[in-house]
Amino acid sequence: MSAKVAIRCSCGHRISAKEVLRHGIFMHRYRPLYAYVRYRCARCKRLGEKLIDYDMWDQSVLHQPSGELTEEERDRFARMDEIQPDEVIQFVAGVRRLKMRDLAALRKP
Ligand SMILES: [Zn+2]
Repeated sequence: MSAKVAIRCSCGHRISAKEVLRHGIFMHRYRPLYAYVRYRCARCKRLGEKLIDYDMWDQSVLHQPSGELTEEERDRFARMDEIQPDEVIQFVAGVRRLKMRDLAALRKP
């Protein structure tokens, strides 16, 4: 299948549906040629527009499920480096140091 084209601002932020100001399709002889998207980036506040080959366009890229993460969290995680092995070792060591009462406290709402 064709790859979905995500719309990214020049600052790197991925544009979602709520940042889209205008969206349209350019037709030629009843055949869609391009999708047009005009947006205002929520991160850098700049206006931008993209023209996407219609064959590469999938409107669902604007409606990716957000899951539990906020947009800010998603951006922050995207900028982070990969988790390194020594960080995993530190985490496991930290979990091992936990006492039963620490674990019980985690269950409290
Ligand atoms: Zn931006």
